[in-house]
Amino acid sequence: MSGVEEGYLTVVDVKRYAYCPRIVFITHILHLEEVTSEAMQMGIVEHDERVVTPLISRLKVVRVLRNVALASERLRIVGKLDFLLLTRFGEYVPVEVKWAETAGGRVKWDHKMQLASYALLVEERFKTTVKRGYAYYLREHKLTEVPLHEGIKRLATEMIEEIHEMLERERDPGIRVSISKCLSCGYRAFCRPIL
Ligand code: SF4
Repeated sequence: MSGVEEGYLTVVDVKRYAYCPRIVFITHILHLEEVTSEAMQMGIVEHDERVVTPLISRLKVVRVLRNVALASERLRIVGKLDFLLLTRFGEYVPVEVKWAETAGGRVKWDHKMQLASYALLVEERFKTTVKRGYAYYLREHKLTEVPLHEGIKRLATEMIEEIHEMLERERDPGIRVSISKCLSCGYRAFCRPIL
């Protein structure tokens, strides 16, 4: 976790934990990283602003912030949001760009938890209430709205607390997910090499 203050998580950790808790154990406790990360795969297209173009008129956006660095001392978490849109109605809308595919046209659970975590950070920083976010799936050219109600933000808060607790105790959560998830996991070589 280079560049991240001791004892802090990143929003990417929340995304990984939502996919499989063992990934966070592997990266933080065993200090192993996958060979090709989503960030590396996205490197070539990371700066393309066209992804938010459809939202500009739809949401009446007056300001587009990109690569927004956010931090919460309360939750001990940092993150860098791809885009943060401010509408003429004063609404802040986080947008995440994903290289991964949708889950059959729908936003994946780990991506929802990532957006909910960004919502918590945006709320703390801008003293506002985030009501929705968007995930843009690059390979499918699909922009999907994610309602960010209190329930999902509470789940994200609980997940952040769970991760801190797991890391403080250095507890291995074990293998809790289906083989199908493992087969498309970048950490499989460290975790389930026989698959
Ligand atoms: S291989 Fe499976 S259990 Fe291991 S980290 Fe990946 S998804 Fe989790």
